Amino acid sequence: MHSASFHIAYNKSADIKEMSKEDQDLIHRARSLAPDAYAPYSGFHVASVALMKDGSYIHGTNQENASYPIGLCAERVMLAAISSIAPQLPIKTLCISYLSEKVPTDIPIAPCGICRQSLVEFESRFSDPIRLLLTGQTGEVYEFRSVTDLLPMAFKKNNLKK
Ligand SMILES: [Zn+2]
Repeated sequence: MHSASFHIAYNKSADIKEMSKEDQDLIHRARSLAPDAYAPYSGFHVASVALMKDGSYIHGTNQENASYPIGLCAERVMLAAISSIAPQLPIKTLCISYLSEKVPTDIPIAPCGICRQSLVEFESRFSDPIRLLLTGQTGEVYEFRSVTDLLPMAFKKNNLKK
């Protein structure tokens, strides 16, 4: 037995003005769409916006329910929309932002475990990595080169066959 480790590198940007116009537009879009989430129970509004390879945008927001467990995260709402509207179109860059009624929104948040698994599945359908931007309503932006970076040792379809 010997030790092993995973190393995940990401970039931080303190000011979105350092970023490309394309990234700034995507970030503004995610920040402005977060209030549209249906989150009357948690007060935690999330928007997940995909800039698709053809330059279009497809987004999702979290959708809660009085029966709490059936609520859906913004990321999986977005993936379902993409798979329905443009199933052959890869995602170029994904931006996730949020607005909370209870906590400050100046630090990036990351997708939950279920959404990480769903994002990895979507990414594996195409040969291109999905670049990921995480941000609050203000403050830093974290950039990952692939959604798989957030889920080391992800369970993938090749685990199901030889
Ligand atoms: Zn989630």
